[in-house]
Amino acid sequence: MILFRSVGRRHLDGHKELSKHSEIINLGSKKGSKVYFPTMAPNASAIKVLVNPGDKVTVGQKIAERTDFYVPIYSPVSGVVLEQENLFSTNVNRPIKHIVIENDGLDTPSDPLKTVTLDSTKEEIFAAIKEAGLVGLGGAGFPTYVKYNNPQGIHTLLVNGVECEPFLTTDFVTMQKEVDALLNGCELLMKASGASKAIIAIKVHKEEVRDAIKAKLDTHPNVTVKEVPDVYPMGWERTLIKEVFHKEYDRLPAEAGVVINNGQTVISLGKVLLTGKPITERTITVSGDGIKNPTNVVCKIGTQAKELIEACGGLACEDVNLIPGGPMCGKAVNNDVFPITMPMGSLTILKVKTYVEEPCLRCGSCTNHCPSGLQPVEIRRALKAKDYERMIKLNVMSCVECGMCSYCCPSRIELTDAMRNAKTVTKFKLSQMKK
Ligand code: SF4
Ligand code: SF4
Repeated sequence: MILFRSVGRRHLDGHKELSKHSEIINLGSKKGSKVYFPTMAPNASAIKVLVNPGDKVTVGQKIAERTDFYVPIYSPVSGVVLEQENLFSTNVNRPIKHIVIENDGLDTPSDPLKTVTLDSTKEEIFAAIKEAGLVGLGGAGFPTYVKYNNPQGIHTLLVNGVECEPFLTTDFVTMQKEVDALLNGCELLMKASGASKAIIAIKVHKEEVRDAIKAKLDTHPNVTVKEVPDVYPMGWERTLIKEVFHKEYDRLPAEAGVVINNGQTVISLGKVLLTGKPITERTITVSGDGIKNPTNVVCKIGTQAKELIEACGGLACEDVNLIPGGPMCGKAVNNDVFPITMPMGSLTILKVKTYVEEPCLRCGSCTNHCPSGLQPVEIRRALKAKDYERMIKLNVMSCVECGMCSYCCPSRIELTDAMRNAKTVTKFKLSQMKK
């Protein structure tokens, strides 16, 4: 049954039951295992490597730094640095050099980072967030501290625990397990942003998460839980802010007086800032009809995807699509030898299904459901005609690659891929026009 809720959103079958109550697997820290770190950031900027082959490193030692924004990268294990290896990277969708560290199994810690308390000043908390090396754990991977660099006019911290992509349950399990860290993170980020209250947004029917948080709110009077409709893409910042505050903004949520962070990011900050121990592992959902035992896996950042797949019993069949991320926004890759990065929340593994594309029916469904208010069918037509001016006019760069247009198309036209291609050529054209 198709449920049309309103323009720009739609209920999807979430398939969350596959992993939400399965026993969590913890891969632990094994002697001889290896972790890998790409030498390029998601925007293809270089990462400065601070260690050399043969160096010994400890858990939490800084091994690299991004060069676009200041983002330190810390070793999740103790051990020895090996020669760099060429490996596929989901940061740039091609093989690039990776730092390799072999785990000595000793978990020797580094000196902790400077900690803060709930009574620290806004400036002290900002400095600690910057040094924590966190990027958004919800998938976008944007450096977290940038949002807290002298924010003005913020009234609310909005914690995004919506997790609207099908199959993903990492927020579902971690937000129940780590309520104290979540609420401490809320207090610290409210202070850092100047917000007087925090709202934790979760989807309806997540009673376990709602009740676990509400049970501890007595000591956090400025934090509330808000349940939002089970529609896609409710987890997109613009959709969520519109739902919760009935406000729209032009460029940044701060224009609506809101700073927004993913639930796992807030949990991680709640832990790192108070303990001084950088994040070394994350929870990642491995799910879909292409994996034998779907569940959530806790692994060291930098662990290869194939190790998680093996831990979940292996593939359910030979022909699968492996998608780092969810099936709506993610893009299938053709190998499983790539490392888990900090923002990667899931590996979605689906049996291959072949669809035959039919001619466009001019039904308007793609346009009706685009949360960015675009006309995907027209953009695709302009792409085919190489009409760059029209693509710019049709505002293709506002596409957030949410996958909704492909999902809604009765003719099974791969509109999202067309949008990605249209954005690439338009970006190139716009850069040429600036010269
Ligand atoms: S992928 Fe882009 S064009 Fe398609 S629905 Fe999402 S935002 Fe709109
Ligand atoms: S949803 Fe598909 S069939 Fe309908 S207008 Fe868009 S491209 Fe054409």
